[in-house]
Amino acid sequence: MAFKLVDIVRENIKRLTPYSSARKEFSGAAQIFLDANENSFGSPLPENYNRYPDPLQTEIKAKIAEINDVNASEIFVGNGSDEAIDLLFRIFCEPRTDNVLICPPTYGMYEVSAEINDISIRRANLTADFRLDFPAIENAIDANTKLLFVCSPNNPTGNSFPREEILKLAEMFAGIIVVDEAYIHFSPEKSLIGEINHFKNLVVLQTFSKAWGLAGLRVGLAFANAETIATFNRVKPPYNVSQIAQEAILEALKNYETVKKTIAEIVSERERLIKNLSAISLVEKLYPTDANFVLVKTSDAERIYRYLLAEKIVVRNRSSVELCAGCLRITIGTSAENESLLKALRKI
Ligand SMILES: *Cc1c(COP(=O)(O)O)cnc(C)c1O
Repeated sequence: MAFKLVDIVRENIKRLTPYSSARKEFSGAAQIFLDANENSFGSPLPENYNRYPDPLQTEIKAKIAEINDVNASEIFVGNGSDEAIDLLFRIFCEPRTDNVLICPPTYGMYEVSAEINDISIRRANLTADFRLDFPAIENAIDANTKLLFVCSPNNPTGNSFPREEILKLAEMFAGIIVVDEAYIHFSPEKSLIGEINHFKNLVVLQTFSKAWGLAGLRVGLAFANAETIATFNRVKPPYNVSQIAQEAILEALKNYETVKKTIAEIVSERERLIKNLSAISLVEKLYPTDANFVLVKTSDAERIYRYLLAEKIVVRNRSSVELCAGCLRITIGTSAENESLLKALRKI
């Protein structure tokens, strides 16, 4: 059965007449802008923040299209990936009727967003070695399952799922498969962006918050076929990415080569940290990771977490999460920060 977007978009979204902003209705070569009730006298800041930003982030998309070898019409830019996640619910999931499927342990926002949108969550836990459980996934899906979230590399486990497995899911699933690649830049695996036109139900999420080091700007990306992205654009708030964020992202995109170097440094620091952690006796297990963090199984997560806090080091206690008993999730810091962590753990 061929995937057709109209078959799964909510009726109210199909009927929707999108908000038409002043900046969208007019995009010619005017010099005097009296169309958007902005403050023509300026602002307390020296920059021209008195004007509304480009609703479609045209310049940013042109650059990102080039980097990822896609068309600008296949890119959504949002207020963090979290905005893209929320939009997916609002576009595809009918409150109190539809459901979505997650594969825990995984990123917490999928569930929070589901609850906010009054959509029930189904779970197909990963296997004990953090692999996708195909029979559990197939069992959990029904006719009302609209979204399937696969986070790869997965947070908090750190491992990636083989691309053939993800694509197999895309092929068998009638809803939208959302592949969250927040950590892809730290992974040897290739992004699935190249598959968006082979699998019309595939949405790939990426973010400027991790490898790009710009979590404070709140800018995330979704890649999908042009028809799906056009639907995102109809539903999103018109000015969802601020002028400051757009300018900063454009500037950052000029420095992709530097970012790549930083990523390589983080990866090498990750390997060094893992090697050193493995020699510490309270570390029972280090799970393989393709991300900028490592999940560590310890003898007593709660006690170690509190001890590290007293040492002014905060890690993430994941010990109450399914399949993660005893586990702490540790972000890769700078070399000096990782040394402080190791020093503290050695004298426990
Ligand atoms: C950190 C993270 C994100 C990033 O979210 P933003 O809203 O873009 O900051 C997305 N997905 C996962 C799995 C993450 O861990």
